[in-house]
Amino acid sequence: MNILVVGSGGREHALCWALAASPLADVVFCAPGSDGIAEAATCVDIAPMDFGSLIAHCKMNDVGLVVVGPEGPLVAGLVDRLEANGIAAFGPTAAAAQLEGSKGFTKDLCARHGIPTAAYGRFTDANAANAFIASHGAPIVVKADGLAAGKGVVIAETEDAACAAVADCFAGKFGAAGAEVLVEEFLEGEEASFFALVDGEHILPLASAQDHKRVGDGDTGPNTGGMGAYSPTPAVTGAIAEEVMNRIIRPTVRAMADEGCPYRGVLYAGLMLTDSGPQLIEYNVRFGDPECQVLMPRLFSDFLPALIATRDGVLNHVDLRWRDEAALCVVMAARGYPGVAEKGSVIGGLEDAATMDGVTIFHAGTAQHDGVTVATGGRVLGVTAVGSDLAAAQARAYAAVDRIDWPEGFFRRDIGWRARTH
Ligand code: AMP
Repeated sequence: MNILVVGSGGREHALCWALAASPLADVVFCAPGSDGIAEAATCVDIAPMDFGSLIAHCKMNDVGLVVVGPEGPLVAGLVDRLEANGIAAFGPTAAAAQLEGSKGFTKDLCARHGIPTAAYGRFTDANAANAFIASHGAPIVVKADGLAAGKGVVIAETEDAACAAVADCFAGKFGAAGAEVLVEEFLEGEEASFFALVDGEHILPLASAQDHKRVGDGDTGPNTGGMGAYSPTPAVTGAIAEEVMNRIIRPTVRAMADEGCPYRGVLYAGLMLTDSGPQLIEYNVRFGDPECQVLMPRLFSDFLPALIATRDGVLNHVDLRWRDEAALCVVMAARGYPGVAEKGSVIGGLEDAATMDGVTIFHAGTAQHDGVTVATGGRVLGVTAVGSDLAAAQARAYAAVDRIDWPEGFFRRDIGWRARTH
């Protein structure tokens, strides 16, 4: 079977790498992919939002399954368009992708079905939002309703800061994504992620994985797309996982089916583990990046049949086996990230680092120029290692990072610290 992975980041590199290893896979295409991804897939120069060209490519190349990496094309209806053209696709329809595309949609769904989440209000008017803030007090959280590349959330320490965030949203800071604003109660606890494959009805939880969102050591500084990840994570114990399944994931999957938009794809719940139990912070409708980069190396089973079964609605016939080893990924980013990142600097030592035992380097933003590797984006590399436990995986990942010669890059030195202090 020929496969098409849509996207170009470290997540898509990890997906291509895992799918290329499947005995069922013939050609794995990646659109648009990157020079780094080209070692695992045949890259085709088509943008993820160019649905017409993606469909034409699938038809011409007998693609049997499309795996959509990023949320943008999912929310914009790529899976609907592919399926309408007779092309099987892994991922939610546009209607189901609202779980990520509209925070208000998800909060209302939670309210209707008793799914634990922070108390909230939805606003299209600053005065009403400000009144809600005054009645609840600070700290309080202000969010743009729509997709804002992970940047549309402000944790406001004071009521004034919250009102300023509301004003920013309505002034267009996040474009159309901020036309509606959500204000919600501040939750306290440890954050955790939960990933499951969902076929509309059946649910198959994946191994646990956790990322580090802040740019600086000790989880300080601004939020990023993720500076590193590890799997498994001790924060989500078996008992907590069961509670998350019973109180959050199963009710959501049932609610989506009952309301006429069954969810198919990978469901990624961002959780806060509070004193009164796990609460949903948000849903994402795709794999986490970099979490995907630690999940794929831990997979013992062939991933492709699980993705096909998810799309076909027969996930109840699938079981995934995971390696006992831990995996840890250190993201290397270009200086300036998460602000404006420097582009074009040369990265050396990659081949040497990649030959280390248990190490895989996923490319998130590199290109080959005249035989040298250069940085093209904010997050550039995901240096991933497996080891007998998290400490071993961490030691290997950092040993590999230390072989990479990239003075214009930076990374966190403490990925995995939360797990190791549990
Ligand atoms: P989101 O994009 O909704 O996941 O929010 C980004 C980050 O903001 C989360 O990973 C949390 O660290 C934080 N956050 C979001 N909502 C809340 C909340 N209600 N209480 C505390 N922290 C939150």
